Amino acid sequence: MNLQRLLFGSLNAKLLMILMLIASFTSVTAAVIFTVYELKTVTDTERIRLNSIANILAPNLTAAVIFQDEYTVNELIKPLLSQSNIVSARVIDAHGNTFVDVLSGVKNNVQIFTEIMIITTPLKMEGVDYGRLEIKADYSLVEKSLLFFAVFLLGILAFILALSFLLALFLRKSLIQPLIHLTSVADLVTKTNNYSVRSEVLSTDEVGNLANCFNLMLETIEQRDHSLEIQVQQRTNALKLANNQLTDQANSDSLSGLPNRRYILDKLSDLIDNSSDTRFAVLGLDLDGFKEINDTMGHDYGDLLLTAVSRRIVNALPDDALVARLGGDEFIVLVEKIESRAAIEAIAEKIKTTITQRFVIKGKHVYVTTSIGIAVFPDDGVTVETIVKYADLAMYKSKANGRNCYHFFHPEMLDNLVKKRALVEDLRAGIRNGEFELYYQPIADLMTKKVCKAEALIRWNHPTRGVVPPLTFIAVAEEAGLIKELGEWVALTAASDLADILKMATGNFQISINVSPLQFKGDEEWILNWFDYMSDLGLNQDAIIVEITENLLMESEESIRSKLTKLKDHGISIAIDDFGVGYSSLSYLQKMDVDILKIDKSFVDDLATESNSRDLCRAMIMMAHHLDIKVVAEGIETELQKQILSDFGCEFGQGYLFSEPLPLNMFKQRYLGGPMAVNLATTLPLIDSVNHGRCLVAEKVGLF
Ligand code: C2E
Ligand code: CA
Ligand code: CA
Repeated sequence: MNLQRLLFGSLNAKLLMILMLIASFTSVTAAVIFTVYELKTVTDTERIRLNSIANILAPNLTAAVIFQDEYTVNELIKPLLSQSNIVSARVIDAHGNTFVDVLSGVKNNVQIFTEIMIITTPLKMEGVDYGRLEIKADYSLVEKSLLFFAVFLLGILAFILALSFLLALFLRKSLIQPLIHLTSVADLVTKTNNYSVRSEVLSTDEVGNLANCFNLMLETIEQRDHSLEIQVQQRTNALKLANNQLTDQANSDSLSGLPNRRYILDKLSDLIDNSSDTRFAVLGLDLDGFKEINDTMGHDYGDLLLTAVSRRIVNALPDDALVARLGGDEFIVLVEKIESRAAIEAIAEKIKTTITQRFVIKGKHVYVTTSIGIAVFPDDGVTVETIVKYADLAMYKSKANGRNCYHFFHPEMLDNLVKKRALVEDLRAGIRNGEFELYYQPIADLMTKKVCKAEALIRWNHPTRGVVPPLTFIAVAEEAGLIKELGEWVALTAASDLADILKMATGNFQISINVSPLQFKGDEEWILNWFDYMSDLGLNQDAIIVEITENLLMESEESIRSKLTKLKDHGISIAIDDFGVGYSSLSYLQKMDVDILKIDKSFVDDLATESNSRDLCRAMIMMAHHLDIKVVAEGIETELQKQILSDFGCEFGQGYLFSEPLPLNMFKQRYLGGPMAVNLATTLPLIDSVNHGRCLVAEKVGLF
């Protein structure tokens, strides 16, 4: 195999082989022809020569034979033996008998031809045959001249082969060399991908042409390569740009232009991963009341406000701090290289103060505050998740503590979280076990002094926690997604309680129930179930009031509006709870055809002392009346408050002055003709002090 490759692997070797074979074949053929020819010529010549000798001797030999002169014959033919190739010479007489026979004693060494050449010459005189001369000769002379010829031929052959070899070498140089060069250039191009190399044009023949074509091809490729390179470069640049833009977009918040959640979380991870002694603070910010502004003023306005807030935060920060918007009205500030707690506090304080300043958006003044929670790495937590979560927990603490303030994370907050989780679990169990109960707080007509309505207020009779007030669990239930179930239970229970109450009540009596905004945001199945249940009970739906928050009115969501309309269409009255504390807008009251407005307790509290509250209450009552809306004042605790509200024309009152919320039975007994029932008309006032609790009421009415 290797030998084959060696001999025929390259064009060079192939050509050499072919040339040498042709040369050898030609030389050998020529040598054979010449040899055969030479053999014939030499043999013929030898025959002719021997014949000539014989012919010369013949006349003398004939005379000697005639004279039977044996001696002379012997003398005549003996010299023949001096010829090296003559083996014998014999004179035979006419009768065929050997007359004289001479034999050469010397044997020739060279004996290629074993044959013997016999030359016979007749011995005649005047036509009479006297015998013949027979000369036997071997081929030694022929052999000798053939040997010489063979040596000569071999010399010629060697010469021809050498010449052929030289010719092949020359051909290789002139014919193969350009090809070899071309191949090596092609090889180089393939290996290096360098299309700028060119082949030398070493000949003007087809190979030269091939080299030119090859060079041209390389040039075209090079040009194409170049333009491709430019294109690729351009595309790479465009791609890089797009990639950068994409990264920017992926890492920045489109509204504010600030870094986004993803960016800041990555940044925090990097900080934690890349340095062992890093220390930083994370401030979680959440705007207070932003949702209300967004709902009332519109989302465009809200967006502008968020952008302005973002700018202010950026300006309030030191150089080495960074703010990102997490979404909605939530921000995160990262302060690196913190020196002290006081330094962080200073930053939080500055952010808080700068946001509190008035904003002017679309020519309108707007105020907003922020609640801040602070967590420090690594003091509070050692992962991004915990640090951000703890800052969030601290922020909730600020919210709970009246907003517009900041708090550092404290492990206690985690306890609260754990407690909250336990509360959620208990709530679930409570719902399963039917641990809830509705209490009813009478609402009195301030003119007639009759209890004509009652507000259903939920209580949780927990096996170990005792009676849990709604403020403790309603928000948690909302957060945990349990409020719908709970709310449906309230609606159904209130309906059945109302059916019960109405059996005993005289005149128009209404029960109002509190409905969480979240109940309006989901499906309306509960409303349909409720309607069915009420018609099963034969309940007139006019006897139901649904209390909603004023903010719900401002929600633009269609499903909310349709649910409210459905309630109204079924004769259910709509009351706005805690009126005055939210972002109320008169136009909404008008649009939604609200029936009752419940003035929040906070206004009633200050009635006797604050002229401002008095003015506000009066204005609210007037405005409601103007819109044909009745007013209930909440949290009336004193006779004076009741008197003032009554003077302002407020129709109804609710509060400890009359009664605190009572369990159904107690409520029925107290107000609806039970054995110890209190005459409705004479129930006012039941209590006169804020400090009177349920027991006091119960005592007064003699229920316990
Ligand atoms: P709210 O709807 O404003 O209910 C009035 C709250 O004020 C009741 O608290 C009531 O006990 C209390 N209150 C009434 N008169 C006076 C008074 O003269 N002085 C004082 N200091 N307080 C008075 P409660 O029952 O603890 O309910 C608190 C809140 O929980 C309710 O506020 C309401 O928002 C919510 N809530 C109660 N029951 C339900 C319910 O069934 N569903 C929903 N979604 N929320 C409920
Ligand atoms: Ca209420
Ligand atoms: Ca209220």
